Parts: sequence; C-alpha cells; structure tokens
Amino acid sequence: MKMQSVKSHFAPYSILQKRKTTINHAFASAIAPVDEYDEAICGAALRFLGQDPNGDLECVYCGSQAETWDHLVGLVEKAELRGCGHQLGNLVPCCRNCNSKKGAKGWDVFLKGVAPNEQTFAAKQRLIASHVDRYSAPVNLKEVAERMPDEWTRYCEIKREIFQLMAEADAIAARLRGIVASKRV
Ligand SMILES: [Zn+2]
Repeated sequence: MKMQSVKSHFAPYSILQKRKTTINHAFASAIAPVDEYDEAICGAALRFLGQDPNGDLECVYCGSQAETWDHLVGLVEKAELRGCGHQLGNLVPCCRNCNSKKGAKGWDVFLKGVAPNEQTFAAKQRLIASHVDRYSAPVNLKEVAERMPDEWTRYCEIKREIFQLMAEADAIAARLRGIVASKRV
C-alpha cells in the first residue's frame, strides 16, 4: 500500500452523495413486484430450466454449483424501477463468481461471454427467455402512475423531500465538521 492511499479517507463525507443511490434503490424496490413462494411452481420453473428442484442447483450461466439467485434484469436503472422485481421469472440460480462478474450487464450479453460456443449460448438464451415469459409479469410504471395518481405523486414527493433534507443535513454537517481541526505538526 502506498502512503497516498490515505487520501481516500480525507474526503469529506456527503450524506446525499453517498446515500442517494441507496435511497433510489429502496424506493424502487418497495414498489417492485414480488412473488409468493409456491413450492410446486418453483419446482416446475426449475425443471423447465433443466434442473432438479430437489438437488443442488446449478448456475444457469456456467453450470457450477449455484450459491445465489441472480436477478436477470436489475431492479433499478437511472434511479427508477425498470419494471421487473423479485419474481420467479426474473430469478435464476447463479454462482457467486458469475453474479459478481455480471454486474449491470444484460443477462444475455453476460451469457454470451460465458458460453463455450454459439450453439450452447443460443440454446440457453432461448431457455432463459422462455423462463422470463412464463414466470414474470413486469409492471409498467406509467400505468401505476395513471391508476393511482395521488399516491404516485406523493411517493415521488417524499423521495424528493428526503433528498432535500439530506442536502440540508450535509450543509449543517459541513459547519459542524469545521469546529474540529486536526493537530498539525
Ligand atoms: Zn456461474
């Protein structure tokens, strides 16, 4: 480690800048569609993916032992809910390695990079796309806003108010921080 790396700790903390993404994510997640657990339907979905629901599940991308569930489509994009949520059709067994490597990439883009050849890629892509069709029903945010305009407007307002309060707290924190000065030798 180099001495200069300590600089990252000297940057003043901003509540708004450091937590804005988390708040956006929370507001999107809270309205994301959620499935109820149904053993028969989960079993059928896994069998459809070519897996044994009673055995150890495999990563849909690379075939090694799965340790997590990957959201095929991430919940949030540009601070808004994309429409997909915690639904069976948006979740697939995945190993930790693939899950972290996939990041914000589209599932099919990531699959193409992992698949050993074009044929395997095409077959898996078809299978996963059918899994999405069968077991997920994304929400349309525009439709939600139209059907419950008052709730939707207030929901967006609350988020804006939270950001305003965080910005106000940041300004106060900057003044409070100014009271304590480091000892300099
Ligand atoms: Zn994997």
